[in-house]
Amino acid sequence: MRKNTLLWFIVLALSALVLAACPAPPPPGSVAPAASSGGEEAAAAPAAPAELSGELNLLCTPQVQWCEGMKTEFERANPGVTVNFVRMSSGESLTRLRNEKDNPQFDIWWGGPIDSFIAAKQEGLLEPYASPNAALIKNKALMLDLDNAWAGIYVGSLGFVTNKNWLAEHPGTAAPTSWDDLLKPEFTGQVLVAHPSSSGTSYTAMCTILQMRGEEAGWEYLKAYAGQMLQFTKSGSAPAKFVGQGEAAVGIVFSHDIVAEMEKGSPVELTFPAEGTGYEIGGMGIIKGAKNLAIAQAWFDWALDPATQELGPKYEAFQAPTVEGASASRPELLDVNLIDYDFQYCGTNKKDFIDRFTNEIANAEKLKE
Ligand code: PLP
Repeated sequence: MRKNTLLWFIVLALSALVLAACPAPPPPGSVAPAASSGGEEAAAAPAAPAELSGELNLLCTPQVQWCEGMKTEFERANPGVTVNFVRMSSGESLTRLRNEKDNPQFDIWWGGPIDSFIAAKQEGLLEPYASPNAALIKNKALMLDLDNAWAGIYVGSLGFVTNKNWLAEHPGTAAPTSWDDLLKPEFTGQVLVAHPSSSGTSYTAMCTILQMRGEEAGWEYLKAYAGQMLQFTKSGSAPAKFVGQGEAAVGIVFSHDIVAEMEKGSPVELTFPAEGTGYEIGGMGIIKGAKNLAIAQAWFDWALDPATQELGPKYEAFQAPTVEGASASRPELLDVNLIDYDFQYCGTNKKDFIDRFTNEIANAEKLKE
């Protein structure tokens, strides 16, 4: 018996020594097993859930309420992580990533049409990541980059927003239901859209026109369209808000942003161009050189989780999800005449088309905030 007691003492003393020699907590931005122990027996046991700790620097392109909401939800799911985000429109984001290429300040870019992600991939700004949750994406040919540089996280169609009070004050006018309606004299100086250099929404509208009409007729149309504008805005969704406030009669905005405005009780109506409208796949990609790579990958996985994709309406976001197992809050927004939007064409030509628009049609010097 005494021999046994002595043996136990030795075992306990050795265990204390081993514990004292345990490694320090993981550095910020890393993933550590929640419970760790040495020895072969522990290694053979099923992997413990990973615990994240550190910061994530998020470049967030959707509306600020959704960015705030996603930050809160991710931090709740990962209490060791702090998410710092900056909200920036698509074009601004792309410019920022280009400028920071040698010293990236962001870890992941979440949201905004994939045209910009295709351009970012071409410029070597994204870090490929094969997320296990990418298997859940419904239409991989459209919504997942072949080299895993980006993945689709939502889908939304372009629509027109019209102020109902303005319509009531202008009997005989109706909300536009075709792209040509936007050129009608009654709408001259009454239309708002963002500038394509800053906004992915506006670039989607512009590239929709160039595809539907062909480049030659498309550029002619865009000249006339620009002549109808009251002003260009910086952010893509801003025209919905300004039209709601009565600053202009009509805006060109993603339909889910128009629904968000209607949900606030704004006096606006939503219409679609009957001959066809463009649509976006919202994208997400990890930044090349991300300093908090493990957390960025965890966000990437989490953003492709069906439960995460169903969080949108809680934060005024009515886009359709991209993954199996998540249902759309407003399926009718995609049940319209969508063109066969060529994302590769629009992504590859993004810089050239925007330069041409800015140099030949309308510069981006005085954008409405
Ligand atoms: N906000 C919402 C809700 C969007 O769906 C999108 C497009 O993906 C954007 C913002 C993009 O913003 P911007 O057009 O300003 O680049």
